[in-house]
Amino acid sequence: MSLVVFKDATLLDCTGSEPRYPATVVVEDNIIREVGGAGTSVPGGAEVVDCGGRTLMPGLIEGHMHLNLFQGDASEQTRRNLPSMIVIKCLQVMEDTLMQGYTSALDAGGVDAGFRDAQAQGLVKGPRMQVCGRALTQSGGHADLRLPTEINPPVQHYFAIGVVADGVDAVRRAAREELRMGADYVKIMAAGGCASPSDEPDSVQYSLEEMKAAVDAADSVGKICLAHCYSPRSMQRCAEAGVKRVEHGNFMDEETARILKKHGVIYCPTLATYDIMSRRGAEFGIPDYFLRKMKVANEKSLEALAIAVKAGLVIGSGSDMVGPGQPFKTNELELKSRVMGAMGAILSTTKVNSEIMRIDGRVGTVEAGKLADLLLLDENPVENIAVFQNRDKIRVIMQDGKYIKKTI
Ligand SMILES: [Zn+2]
Repeated sequence: MSLVVFKDATLLDCTGSEPRYPATVVVEDNIIREVGGAGTSVPGGAEVVDCGGRTLMPGLIEGHMHLNLFQGDASEQTRRNLPSMIVIKCLQVMEDTLMQGYTSALDAGGVDAGFRDAQAQGLVKGPRMQVCGRALTQSGGHADLRLPTEINPPVQHYFAIGVVADGVDAVRRAAREELRMGADYVKIMAAGGCASPSDEPDSVQYSLEEMKAAVDAADSVGKICLAHCYSPRSMQRCAEAGVKRVEHGNFMDEETARILKKHGVIYCPTLATYDIMSRRGAEFGIPDYFLRKMKVANEKSLEALAIAVKAGLVIGSGSDMVGPGQPFKTNELELKSRVMGAMGAILSTTKVNSEIMRIDGRVGTVEAGKLADLLLLDENPVENIAVFQNRDKIRVIMQDGKYIKKTI
């Protein structure tokens, strides 16, 4: 049995309580055994980490990422890389995501369950993963990589972000195939997107009946359907179809927020990718069509979040970083804090994400009985939300009771 005691910490437990000092947290093997004050007794034989007032909090949870989008141009990347190269690059992104402080993550389309299982078996370093497998997309949809000039049928690539399926039967079959291969969710592309060469974000993709087929396939095995959306119409159609979670949603309006609320749809905005690509996309080498659409989406992203907050939606958190943006996922917290405040942004990235990913029984807060996924930070993020962006200030990353990083 191993025992680690974090003492003299400022505890940000992410249950919604204010940070408290001084706190003591006792970790036994991979479990948080006790959370107490200065008087908590230190068991014999324990390793004592003197936190010196630094902030101890749960590991972050990345609610929307893409391991396999490691180049600026997704289309080109998919066409040019053999599977071995893609796996190696994915593993690099996975480890780097953990080093940013994310101890759990959801891959929102593109990789199979092998990455999740390899991490769970301790074969590779990375966040504890959930995966969507390949996203389902219609012909000409967000995950159809063909250029408008190409008239060949869709070609399958290794680790492509999605798979083209048109019509109710084909959508149902494609969803069942992804579930068969171990996907934790069914992901559909319900609107155009920025990285896709042949569509516009404000479109709607998939008919109501096709969406219902995807939802039903997921629901039949106790899982939910996630949808990539931008336009009000796409989100409204998703709500009607029974989709339980919409991503991005940059063109949210009040009526749509009300409809999502009524149907109990979770909203996962992803601000960071639009922000960084709008500022640095040209330098990152993303194609012109991608940059143009990112800028339009970026202009609306904070307004969309404000509307969602006002409507009382459950708001998850993901960065959706791609290509050279991958190392900057924690920018998401600072951007969210502009609308939700620092505590709101932090809770969205910990407790709320754990709830909507149904892993709140194990992670997301610092409470007795939870897995020991912990960060120790030089500064309290409630006072400086940008602290996550300076990796040197993350002194300890502990995942499942094991040190991933310790510089104290
Ligand atoms: Zn995405």
